[in-house]
Amino acid sequence: MGHSELELGTVGHWIGGQAVAGGSGARVADVFNPATGEVARQVAFADAAQVDAAVKAAADAFPAWSAMPALRRARVMFRFRELVEQHADALAELITSEHGKVVSDALGEVTRGLEVVEFACGIPQLLKGEFSEQVGTGIDMFALRQPLGVCVGITPFNFPVMVPMWMFPVAIACGNTFVLKPSERDPSAAIEIARLLKEAGLPDGVFNVVQGDKVAVDALLTHPSVDAISFVGSTPIARYIHQTASASGKRVQALGGAKNHMVVMPDADLDQAVDALIGAAYGSAGERCMAVSVAVAVGAAADALVARLKERVPAIVVADGADAKAEMGPLVTRTHLEKVRGYVDAGVEEGAELVVDGRGLKVAGREDGFFIGGCLFDHVTPEMKIYKEEIFGPVLSIVRADDFEQALALINAHEFGNGAAIFTRDGDAAREFSSRVKIGMVGVNVPIPVPMAFHSFGGWKSSLFGDHHMHGPEGVRFYTRYKAVTQRWPAGIRAGAEFVMPTMK
Ligand code: NAD
Repeated sequence: MGHSELELGTVGHWIGGQAVAGGSGARVADVFNPATGEVARQVAFADAAQVDAAVKAAADAFPAWSAMPALRRARVMFRFRELVEQHADALAELITSEHGKVVSDALGEVTRGLEVVEFACGIPQLLKGEFSEQVGTGIDMFALRQPLGVCVGITPFNFPVMVPMWMFPVAIACGNTFVLKPSERDPSAAIEIARLLKEAGLPDGVFNVVQGDKVAVDALLTHPSVDAISFVGSTPIARYIHQTASASGKRVQALGGAKNHMVVMPDADLDQAVDALIGAAYGSAGERCMAVSVAVAVGAAADALVARLKERVPAIVVADGADAKAEMGPLVTRTHLEKVRGYVDAGVEEGAELVVDGRGLKVAGREDGFFIGGCLFDHVTPEMKIYKEEIFGPVLSIVRADDFEQALALINAHEFGNGAAIFTRDGDAAREFSSRVKIGMVGVNVPIPVPMAFHSFGGWKSSLFGDHHMHGPEGVRFYTRYKAVTQRWPAGIRAGAEFVMPTMK
């Protein structure tokens, strides 16, 4: 892969199977190495004309690509799968260099993305329709799903490979063409993906990338040749995307932010629960939409849980994500670091007890990196800002609840509904929780219940706007539209015109 070309210079677009530079006078933004705090490169921002060129390339590629047998589209996916596997280490290093997460975690992200590619390899089976013979005398019916046209993906910084892969493998395997607008904070992986798709034999124009910000997004949301928008990011932007794209007649799925709770019942295995919380709250520095940011400690679980976490949180190894010893890397940008610090300050002001304070952490040799150590709050209450809002950093809040019903009510009253987990040895409590919780993805003794690629990913409430979750069967439904055909051949009965609602005889 042309990784070295990316070391310096400006990351551009990918349109019609070609790398496209930003053009003179294009707006650009800095892309940082979060571990050192240095500017690693820049990214060009597309204007409306470049967005238009990408959408046109996708629209022009659609007739031939959608007419290609699904089996042949799947073969491209099989080849792409091999290439991603071959380049997984390089992709993971690239993610770490722009996002900051530890390399092993970045590799995990690539693997979870690859699983969606593997799912998309089965597209001929997934697109099989329905057939009913003899629905009336001499009449058969069949139903099929056809691709939509040009589909767009707008993705967040926290999974620059996996989240695009929740979208485009299913979209293009279904016969659509695609325009990806990745996060401007870690834009390089999208271009590497485009190169690998081309190498896999994907025809030019089927997959395109435009870098940029709101200007590029707005041009995509209202472009007359765009048929569908998939978005993943923060809730205010998800709501805006859903409203704007729906108003211009597009199919939309917009996944937003989260505040994932993990209930720890008094009968839970506390060692397991603590291990789960350490990984789920502090992994990827909390910059995961499925990170656990609230532990609801029920009854007697609370004191024991806090005592254990107080020992464990300061022991997390925080270092450059490229360092093999690192368990947690830096945050993505200085601006984000300041925001997370601000939340910790607010929690202290609001009266929560800051049991572990990571604000003063310095990493030797990386003094300018965007680091913060793990923070732990106890006695957090529902009115506090640190409880209500998504922090998206390594900050875990403990809320104490008297019993199961109070714990469940807390979760159900929260604005967000992405993931939730319960740790217990009581099957009845687990079953009751899974049934009554108003959440899209539920874990029982599993802290981060991310569905596998052949199921679908998505939240409820302010964590998802639209009707479809992503990838898996919901992804196939989102990226296709249903058509029902009723057929009768001329040898059948010729009864003349019918003026009443037909009832099948
Ligand atoms: P973000 O909302 O700032 O950005 C997401 C995308 O929207 C980016 O491509 C960005 O360029 C674009 N964008 C930003 N501001 C815009 C504006 N005003 N108008 C139009 N487009 C705009 O999100 P982020 O900071 O990159 O990612 C973190 C957020 O994503 C968190 O809230 C996290 O919970 C969420 N997230 C959710 C899921 C999920 O599955 N629900 C998964 C990953 C991340």
